[in-house]
Parts: sequence; C-alpha cells; structure tokens
Amino acid sequence: MTEGKVCKTCGAWKPFSEYYARSESRDGHRATCKECHEKRREALLQNPQRLEAYQEQHRVASRKYSKRYREEHCNDPEYKAKKKLADRKHYERVRDEWLAQQKQAYAQNPEPKRLQSRQWHRDNPTRVQVSHVNWKAEQRGTEGSFSYLEWVALCEKYDNRCLCCGEQKPLTVDHVIPLSLGGPNVIANVQPLCGICNAKKGNRTIDYRPDDRKEMSAL
Ligand SMILES: [Zn+2]
Ligand SMILES: [Zn+2]
Repeated sequence: MTEGKVCKTCGAWKPFSEYYARSESRDGHRATCKECHEKRREALLQNPQRLEAYQEQHRVASRKYSKRYREEHCNDPEYKAKKKLADRKHYERVRDEWLAQQKQAYAQNPEPKRLQSRQWHRDNPTRVQVSHVNWKAEQRGTEGSFSYLEWVALCEKYDNRCLCCGEQKPLTVDHVIPLSLGGPNVIANVQPLCGICNAKKGNRTIDYRPDDRKEMSAL
C-alpha cells in the first residue's frame, strides 16, 4: 500500500510523493500537498505586501535557528573547521565592498554605530564575559573554547552560586587548572567563582565542584 496522508489545505488524500519534504515534521513531509503549496506560493507572489511580510518572517525564523545551531555546535571541531573556511571565503568575496561601505557609513555618521555597540555590550555582559575569556585563551595559544549556553547552564547547575563561598554574587569564569599551568579552555575545566574567591584562588589548581572530579580525570 502506498503511504500518504490528507492535505491540510485541500482535504484530499495523497501519497507522500505529492508532498514536499520537511525534516522537522513527524512524517518528514509538509502538511500541505505540493499542488496547494504551489498555489499558495503563486498567490503570495501576486501580493507584494504579503510576500514581504512572509519573507521577513522567514528571515527572523532562520536567523534564530542558525543562531541556536551555532551555539549548539560551537565546540564541534568539524563544524568549527568548516565555518572557519566558509567565513574566510565569504570575507574574501565581500571584503573590499564591505570596507568601503563601513568607511562611508562611519564618515557620514560616526556616533550611532559606536553607541549601538556600547549598548549591546552593556545589555549582554555575560556574552561579553564568555567571548572575552575565549579570546584571551586563543591569544595565549590555549586549546578549546566554550559557549555562552554552556557557561549559563553550568552556573544554573550550581544555583548561580560561587562554588567557593556559596554566595549568589556576580560570577566569574575560573579555570580549575589555570591556563598558565596548561589547563584547557573547555567547560569541563571551568567553575563559577565570585570575583573575590577567584582572585584568592589565583594561580592554583583547586576544584571546588562537588561532583565533577570524574570529568576532570578524563581531561
Ligand atoms: Zn492539497
Ligand atoms: Zn565566592
């Protein structure tokens, strides 16, 4: 028997070959059949206003999706290598045009961009913190990086408390084995400490985590 389903739009039963693929769906296909889908697309193309709204909606959704994808895969070496290559290729392609554009925009209006960026940094202190730690580690040639989401999850795991004094204060990234002693810059070598406890710990290897000793021995 051929497999298929009822189209959500026209209500007719059709085999799966009459539906476009959609990997997120449970059956791997769109809810609307190809014919109805094409009809809707045609109608959309006739109506510029709706088309624009649709495209904007799609842009927002795909931006959100790729952001999540990046954050989930930022530690996957294969993904990293691919991304680095793609980024470089893309940059080479658009470099001259982009530089000229930036220069012109800045010459016309130097303040807004700077203010925007400053505001973003103010609004996203934790993202800034994580990227600063990763940047510093890369500067000194230390292997590894961890993501904003990994850091947030780690802090939440410990109830957003400093693992040394137990207080709920602003937390800083501490490397259990300091980078200066050859510790890697990976989440398994990271513990949240408040600024004071982090400074007190200094350049020593102290693991304050109650339940991660096993992970450490795997490093
Ligand atoms: Zn249909
Ligand atoms: Zn503390």
